[in-house]
Amino acid sequence: MENIERKINELRETLRYHSDRYYNDDAPEIEDYEYDQMMRELKKLEEQYPEYDTPDSPTKKVGGKADNTFASVEHTVRMESLQDAFSTDEIREFDRRVHESENCVQYVVEPKIDGLSVSLEYVDGVFTRGSTRGDGDVGEDVSGNLRVIRNVPLKLNKSLPYIEVRGEVYMPKKSFERVVDRQLLNDEKPFKNPRNAAAGSLRQKDSSVTATRGLDIFVFNIQQVEGVTLNSHKESLDFLKELGFNTVPNYVRVDSIDRAIDEVNAIGESRGKLEFDIDGAVIKVDDFAQRDRLGSTAKYPKWAVAFKYPPEEKQTKLIDIEIAVGRTGVLTPTAVLESVHLAGTTVSRATLHNQDFIDEKGINIGDIVTVRKAGDIIPEVVCVNEHRSDGTFRFPEYCPSCGSKVVRVKDEAAIRCINPECPAQLLRNLIHFCSRDAMDIEGLGPAIIETFVDKGLISKTFDIYDLDYDAIAELDGFKETSANNIRVSVEKSKDNDLSKLIFALGIRNIGAKAGKLLSDHFKTMEALMNASVEDILEIDGFGQTMAESVVNYFSANEAKELIEKLSSFGVNMKSKTEIKDNRFEGMTFVLTGTLPTMKRSEASKLVEAYGGKTSSSVSKKTTYVLAGEEAGSKLDKANALGITVIDENEFLEMLK
Ligand code: NAD
Repeated sequence: MENIERKINELRETLRYHSDRYYNDDAPEIEDYEYDQMMRELKKLEEQYPEYDTPDSPTKKVGGKADNTFASVEHTVRMESLQDAFSTDEIREFDRRVHESENCVQYVVEPKIDGLSVSLEYVDGVFTRGSTRGDGDVGEDVSGNLRVIRNVPLKLNKSLPYIEVRGEVYMPKKSFERVVDRQLLNDEKPFKNPRNAAAGSLRQKDSSVTATRGLDIFVFNIQQVEGVTLNSHKESLDFLKELGFNTVPNYVRVDSIDRAIDEVNAIGESRGKLEFDIDGAVIKVDDFAQRDRLGSTAKYPKWAVAFKYPPEEKQTKLIDIEIAVGRTGVLTPTAVLESVHLAGTTVSRATLHNQDFIDEKGINIGDIVTVRKAGDIIPEVVCVNEHRSDGTFRFPEYCPSCGSKVVRVKDEAAIRCINPECPAQLLRNLIHFCSRDAMDIEGLGPAIIETFVDKGLISKTFDIYDLDYDAIAELDGFKETSANNIRVSVEKSKDNDLSKLIFALGIRNIGAKAGKLLSDHFKTMEALMNASVEDILEIDGFGQTMAESVVNYFSANEAKELIEKLSSFGVNMKSKTEIKDNRFEGMTFVLTGTLPTMKRSEASKLVEAYGGKTSSSVSKKTTYVLAGEEAGSKLDKANALGITVIDENEFLEMLK
């Protein structure tokens, strides 16, 4: 018995953890199918051992929690979840329970859209408020973000005193691809699937961001209405259409569970061809009087069931492995398969993730493998069923796009091409190069860079400094003045401090701050290029990974060529940190607390001007801690390590 209790508690804890990742972080770590199976196991155990059942169990909870980014909205009509079924037997079991109290039942079958549930409220036909489901009772007011979604009508075709409808906000597959593409380009963590993308986009603080995400909505229920009487679900969906809502597509009314199952299967077959993701089909009792009699549990209505399509798996032959270079330089392997029909689509390619994944599963060309397509768009290879070859597949040593040697950075699963001029990475590198913290070339934003690359005006990074401004002035949407503005900011950027150029190169693990440290330490690009890992490790705050990244980067001939070209175009290659004399050479200062007359940034500039360095943390390498009022833990640490602590007066004395 103790074991059972432990198992139940473990399941609850795991489910709570994943529910938090899914609903509150929009970043699930496991497949929905796995989550659903764990939930089932817990439900079964709670039924079997009611003595361990508790009201706060995840089996009785709906969705996530409203956080305080948005105002709370109390739902007057609870936004319930749905009971699920994973087999036709379970659907028939649902039908049997319905028939315990009802005769002559008609069902409506609809696709179950994989997005997030929202409520929309209208007073006198005008949109007044929209909110997320939250935990079913309290959601978040996301009216501003809902207003910018196509197909959320701001005014209805008919004026009713009040109506609240429920719908699913989703991200069409096309928008999803576009959004992920942008995220990869900007080195951001991409959304895992359209559902998370929709949730993350709807819960943005800034609705102009939501507006760029291409979200849409399907409405599938009237929660409450005044001024009209409706008797059935089908009738209410038809009415919603008349009001101007985009209702859930292809809903069908049938008069037997067999026909309902046929419809569920048909929706399953059409799945791959839809422009949006679905994670199942919903069967709902049509008649409202019957629904009232059937009622609800704490979590879901007893008059509806969601059939969840299980992830489909099939065996097939792996014909080839193709390696592509992503825009961040990561080499990604794709399995080319003998086509199989899976979850409504023909699958002939699947992801193999990375070399570790291939090694772990022992995958090689010619093998018979199992492919799976779960809720996600991209199918994956699950395992090898039959090895038909020796060994496992190895990644090439050279980039398939530019031919330069690839590297595997320590502690990273990814194998990368680090050639700064690799054509596959060009666009991303250019966008980064011109961005504000890098070379800050105003006028060369992502869209314009993309146009210039498309038109062949830029094919290498250094082409930025050799642009054909006459050709630019001729482009659609450009005039002489805008071409000239670009020229001015390109010219201005030549004068940037070396630290900006180092950051602009896009060396892995080297951000703006590290760029500044490298620039201050080595003073010239030449010295930096000749530095060894050990030389770089002398800089406070630099670890092995960062140092290796820098040395790796400059080891490529393309990097050397890029610097040479940039220099020939007049781009500054020297640190501009003014050195008055070198009295602080080799010394590291840590500044803490409030100084009586000087800002900390001023003191820090002075340290650098006299050849010293500043660091944010106290260590044995620290020479002095310059402490002001209310200096906290850094001062304690300095005392503990026996490091000399000075005040502003002593510091100014040192400068005399
Ligand atoms: P649910 O998604 O299974 O079903 C209820 C939802 O379906 C409703 O809120 C509604 O918004 C939506 N829906 C879409 N189309 C509909 C239609 N035509 N009619 C009625 N409703 C429709 O239940 P849930 O409580 O929202 O969430 C559970 C889901 O979330 C499960 O699929 C679960 O796998 C997933 N989840 C996954 C993880 C993970 O870590 N992968 C964690 C938590 C939850």
